[in-house]
Amino acid sequence: MSYSTSKSQALFESAQQHIPGGVNSPVRAFKGVGGTPIFFEKAKGAYVYDVDGNRYVDYVGSWGPMILGHSAPQIIDAIRDRMELGLSFGAPTAIESEMASEVCKLIPSMDMVRMVNSGTEATMSAIRLARGYTGRDKMVKFEGCYHGHSDSLLVKAGSGMLTLGVPTSPGVPASVAEHTITLNYNDLDHVRECFAQMGDQIACVIIEPVAGNMNCIPPSKSFLQGLRELCDVHGIVLIFDEVMSGFRVALGGAQAHYGIVPDMTCLGKVIGGGLPVGAFGGKRAIMEKLAPLGPVYQAGTLSGNPLAMAAGLAMLKEIQKPGVYEQLNARVDRMLAGFKAAADKHGIPFTYNKAGSMFGLFFTELEKVENYQHVLQQCDAQRFGKFFHGMLEQGVYLAPSAFEAGFMSFAHTEDDIDFTIAAADKVMASL
Ligand code: PMP
Repeated sequence: MSYSTSKSQALFESAQQHIPGGVNSPVRAFKGVGGTPIFFEKAKGAYVYDVDGNRYVDYVGSWGPMILGHSAPQIIDAIRDRMELGLSFGAPTAIESEMASEVCKLIPSMDMVRMVNSGTEATMSAIRLARGYTGRDKMVKFEGCYHGHSDSLLVKAGSGMLTLGVPTSPGVPASVAEHTITLNYNDLDHVRECFAQMGDQIACVIIEPVAGNMNCIPPSKSFLQGLRELCDVHGIVLIFDEVMSGFRVALGGAQAHYGIVPDMTCLGKVIGGGLPVGAFGGKRAIMEKLAPLGPVYQAGTLSGNPLAMAAGLAMLKEIQKPGVYEQLNARVDRMLAGFKAAADKHGIPFTYNKAGSMFGLFFTELEKVENYQHVLQQCDAQRFGKFFHGMLEQGVYLAPSAFEAGFMSFAHTEDDIDFTIAAADKVMASL
């Protein structure tokens, strides 16, 4: 039977009537790769199934949370058991303390943690707290890093912002954006220069310690180390946005992988097991400034929701089983080597980046892709679009954008990887 997505196309038509662009988050619209988004019906393990009955080996994993694979029974059971006790109380529950102590155990730079409902809330709140703590207004971020959609962070941001080509969103007042300084990723001299000029006005630096929203760009170790030292010299709070890299690049996140200790950490995705969860935390002296202990306000009706905590705790339990990351990372290595071999065989200029089970595919003559300008100017996004659609037809679902990282899960088997490499070989032959 030939590949058809007619039901997805019909659903996309009708979705556009009452949903802007037919989607509830821009990158889902396939703007970066063209064509019609695939509407999913269900997912299990390494596979997603669309409304036309096509099966895909999935390398998006709901943009990161699904490190166990889809519909993992441990998570589903935990939610089902909890659900019987009530859906939300807006009052303290024991499971929140369990979650907090588990998070602080796995990420020792966090003495205290506050749960929220999304990565956006986590970063927005962390920055407010860093400002309240230091009494300074300015904030530094890096070009191509995405930290959610709060006003002050939509300045030269990555992800859907890149494929839409909007460097700063309309609706963000200039008076807000003026406090955000954007520097080049992996460029310590740029940071040094900036701090020398205005270090005493900067409250915090926020960074994706492995960038995953301008495709996947790992940091150089000396960059993260230098950033840590410079923040110490100038009394600037260093915030690692580990919404994507947390519990992904390694059990203890990118900070464990690279051995750099931030002052604050933001989490999301994996920590919710697939339910809407985020978290921010860090040093006790900083976290004690947060309401109700301190004067910096932050709150949430559904924060620490019992179902979300149950899903998250089940997830954190599973990922602590011995050997799971080693096996996953080895599988990612084998798949990427397979992609590279296929590209070489067909004479396609290609390279990849990876950190743990986060990876990036680049159609480029460059040997190393190290920053946003490399991705934007020297990687062939059109060719990526062709590759993406070719893979889709072969039954492999990659991130629908040349500016997004890919993810593998514990559920992907050696057979799934063979299948994916064979698909890549076929598609590369046709590029
Ligand atoms: N920070 C990073 C590093 C992210 O990757 C994302 C989402 N992709 C966010 C923050 C925002 O998280 P959310 O979409 O849950 O608001």
